[in-house]
Amino acid sequence: MKRWLGGLALLLLAAGVLGYALRERIAMAVYERGAARAVAADTMAGLPDGLHAGFCGTGSPMPDPARAGPCLAVIAGKRLIIVDAGEGAARNLALMGLPAGRIERVLLTHFHSDHIDGLAPLALQRWVGSAATAPLILQGPVGVGEVAAGLSAAYRQDSTYRTAHHGAAVVPPSGFGFSPRAFAPTGGVVLNDGGLKVTAIPVDHRPVTPAVAYRFDYKGRCLLVSGDTLPSPALTAAAKGCDLLVHEALQPRLTRVPGAAAKAAGNAGLAKILADIEDYHTTPEQAAEISAAAGVKALALTHIVPPLRVPGLEAAFLGDARGRFDGELWIADDRDLVSLPAAGGMTRTRLGGRG
Ligand SMILES: [Zn+2]
Ligand SMILES: [Zn+2]
Repeated sequence: MKRWLGGLALLLLAAGVLGYALRERIAMAVYERGAARAVAADTMAGLPDGLHAGFCGTGSPMPDPARAGPCLAVIAGKRLIIVDAGEGAARNLALMGLPAGRIERVLLTHFHSDHIDGLAPLALQRWVGSAATAPLILQGPVGVGEVAAGLSAAYRQDSTYRTAHHGAAVVPPSGFGFSPRAFAPTGGVVLNDGGLKVTAIPVDHRPVTPAVAYRFDYKGRCLLVSGDTLPSPALTAAAKGCDLLVHEALQPRLTRVPGAAAKAAGNAGLAKILADIEDYHTTPEQAAEISAAAGVKALALTHIVPPLRVPGLEAAFLGDARGRFDGELWIADDRDLVSLPAAGGMTRTRLGGRG
């Protein structure tokens, strides 16, 4: 009996070792195939001519394991323009198969930290990913020059290591950093060439000034991204007839929960912050009303506050939003891609990642 048990133990041990080795071989094969795919990934090559919105970040400053900081990738034909770059934006772009080396410029809506704290990794990925010979264009309202200069100063030393290590042909020193393009806080048309028109619209995010939304027009299709704002009549007017409104949203019914918890725990500072943020954002219901008033076809909510960390909380976040807008409405997730082909129609897909 004892010998029989010993033999069985040996057999199980051998099977375990064999299984482990097999698992490693399978993992390596999958990894190698994945690496080849990742290096060659170019989502843009497969898109029809038109306007496309890739959600490279749908979160906010509140820590959210499922969402990067604010970032929208706008693809117009073969051009890639990024609106805001919060923490994790570069990682999402890579997962979406949108190579940072293809970025033409970054537009900033305002200078809150959560909209700029992913800029440095994005600039690095673009620089080393395309052997860029000119700095990344950073366009925004007046004040963008200070952001560009500060980031360039902070990463100056890192830049010298990159060139010293990999050589000037791979990492040309002239491609490091940011080239600021400032426009007046009153906005207006900030880009108009190759059939693409981008208009900046001043919005109300006080005390944060300047703050703008951006409207993109390309081949008869239109999308507008709000940036951070209270309901703003100028934005509603500018969104008239657009296909897609990408609007920020904060649900006070939900932010008041951690607010009350902070107060009960004696953390008056956090309680005040959670109360204060209500006065410069838009609720999902208000965003729905704006969409109805502007006559847009679809509304994607982004900059989701607070993080929706409990399954099923989406309904509480939306509140009565669906009752106030007849068009397509959803809470955007990281790596969503909305396509507005020049030929018409609208499709939604999810790009990359494991999920
Ligand atoms: Zn924000
Ligand atoms: Zn803000």
